[in-house]
Amino acid sequence: MSDEIQTAVCSRAGCRAAARWRIEWRNPRIHAEDRRKTWVACDEHRDYLRDFLRTRDFPVEVTPLAQVGEPA
Ligand SMILES: [Zn+2]
Repeated sequence: MSDEIQTAVCSRAGCRAAARWRIEWRNPRIHAEDRRKTWVACDEHRDYLRDFLRTRDFPVEVTPLAQVGEPA
C-alpha cells in the first residue's frame, strides 16, 4: 500500500512531477463517515488541489509525503 504512494506522481491532470504531499479528502454526500480518498500532489499543485476540494466543501487534510531514502 505505501509503496504505491511513495512512487506516486502528482494527481493533477497532466502533471508528472513527483508527489510530495498527500491530500486526504471525503465527499460527505457519497462517502461514509470513515471513508477517505487520497490524492498526492507535487509542491506546485498542492494548494491547487486542496482549494479545488475546499471550494466543494469537502473535508480536506494535507500531510507531507514521506520519501524513501530521505532523512526524516
Ligand atoms: Zn503537480
